Amino acid sequence: MNPAESAAICQEFLDSVYTIPHGEKIKECIQCGTCSASCPSSAAMEYGPREIIASLRAGMLDKVLSSNTVWLCVSCYSCTVRCPAAIPFTDVMYELKRIQTEKKVSKDTGPTVMAKSFVAVVDKYGRNHETELLRKYFFQTNPFDGIRNIPLALRLIYRKRFHLRPRKIKGLTALKKMMSAIDNHRKEQP
Ligand code: SF4
Ligand code: SF4
Repeated sequence: MNPAESAAICQEFLDSVYTIPHGEKIKECIQCGTCSASCPSSAAMEYGPREIIASLRAGMLDKVLSSNTVWLCVSCYSCTVRCPAAIPFTDVMYELKRIQTEKKVSKDTGPTVMAKSFVAVVDKYGRNHETELLRKYFFQTNPFDGIRNIPLALRLIYRKRFHLRPRKIKGLTALKKMMSAIDNHRKEQP
C-alpha cells in the first residue's frame, strides 16, 4: 500500500469510527494501556489495543490492517468497560474488521479464514454448523490438519456435540431480509 492509499484508508476509518456512538472519544486516549492489559487476546496480537490507537495517531494504520490482529479480538468488551476515557474499543475493532474485509488489504490467514467461514455458515443456516465450518476452515488452511482431527470429530459426533446435518433456524428468510436491509442501510450512509 502506498502512503497516499494508507492515508486515505486511515481517514476513511476515522470518519467511520466517529459515526459510532462515542466514537469521537478515540481522540481522548491517554495511552494508559489498561485495554491491552485487560485483553485476553493481546499476547497473541501483533498490535495490542493501545498500540492500535497509537498507530492510528501516527498514521500507520496500514500496519495494523495488514496483520491478523483484529481477527483475534473475541469481542469480550473488557477493554471497553475498563477504559478510563470511555472509548468503545470493541466497536473500533469491528470497524477495523469491516474496513480490512472491504479493502482486502491483507492475505487471508487462519483467524480471517475462520471468521469468514463462520459468517458464511451463519448466513446459510441462520446458526453455526460446526462440521461445515471446520470443513471450510481446514480446506482453506491445512487439509492435513483436518484429516488428523477426524478422530476428535467422530468423538464429538458420538457425543452429539457435532451434527452431520445442518439445522436451519425457523424464519431464515426473514432473517436474511433483515440482514440485507441492514447492509443496504449501511451502504447508503455517507
Ligand atoms: S484503556 Fe482507553 S485510554 Fe487507556 S490506552 Fe486503552 S483506549 Fe487508551
Ligand atoms: S473486546 Fe477484543 S480488543 Fe477488547 S479486550 Fe476483548 S478481545 Fe481484546
